[in-house]
Amino acid sequence: MITEYVYNFSAENEPVKKVKTGEKVRFKTLDCFSNQVRSEDQLVTSIDFDRVNPATGPVFVEGASKGDVLVVDILEIDVEDKGFIVNLPETGPLCGQSETRTKEIPIEDGHIVFNDVKLPIDPMVGVIGVAPKSGESVCGFPGAHGGNMDCNKIVEGSRLYLPVNAEGALFQLGDLHAKMGDGEISGAGVEIPGEVEVKLDVIKNLEIEWPVLETEDMWYAIGSDEEFEKALHYASKQIQELICKQYGWDETDAYLYMSAAGSFEICQGCKPSDLPVAVRFGVPKVKEKPGLIEYKE
Ligand code: CA
Ligand code: ZN
Repeated sequence: MITEYVYNFSAENEPVKKVKTGEKVRFKTLDCFSNQVRSEDQLVTSIDFDRVNPATGPVFVEGASKGDVLVVDILEIDVEDKGFIVNLPETGPLCGQSETRTKEIPIEDGHIVFNDVKLPIDPMVGVIGVAPKSGESVCGFPGAHGGNMDCNKIVEGSRLYLPVNAEGALFQLGDLHAKMGDGEISGAGVEIPGEVEVKLDVIKNLEIEWPVLETEDMWYAIGSDEEFEKALHYASKQIQELICKQYGWDETDAYLYMSAAGSFEICQGCKPSDLPVAVRFGVPKVKEKPGLIEYKE
């Protein structure tokens, strides 16, 4: 089990483990506050923000080089029995209209307990990615390398494809949520420590610009930017390119098909905070056509 943490994604980070392709790896994760918030009287305004959004790793994947794609199978997500949800300052559509609050969320029999409401947990990975193309990216931000995408479709059974930018990919993850709504409007999900098991593999010589996610029934690309329009452009462009390549259609047919059958969904919409916007554009899996990325285990 990997237990070392970093606070940024960078090709300069020293790998804490080397794995072969096809190997399973287990990560122990702190919550997004590095477990600094342990009771309701600890407000998010009082914690050390140099220690938010830790990621466990990085892991060096043998055989992964620039220009390849890293395949990440999310095999298992186990969360602890207590999480916390907060509202970050200056964050989300209702910011400035509520008091700063930390709310403890017990997990009971596979459900979150929010006041007198119980809802099934839906554990997901908020921060997940590889070394970026250049420089470093703090774990709290999303980008073409992954990072804090806060996509609630990154769950057990989903498969993430990441562009490899550095030798060994340098894969890391963290920031589990027992549950998080689309948009994560207060800036937090049910933040919780836990463990994640993944299987890591490599597809040689395949160019993608943005992370691609395969779920049971959908193909998504996840784009991010300061501006919604740009984030949506990046995600939809990635899907359009894959449709053209895999379905043999031209760009216009791909565009029209995406308008007919596609779905624009918001991963993280926390403006006016300085968090970039993260969105995903998805199309359904269809039996007439191959996958948008062909991968044989
Ligand atoms: Ca997050
Ligand atoms: Zn989080």
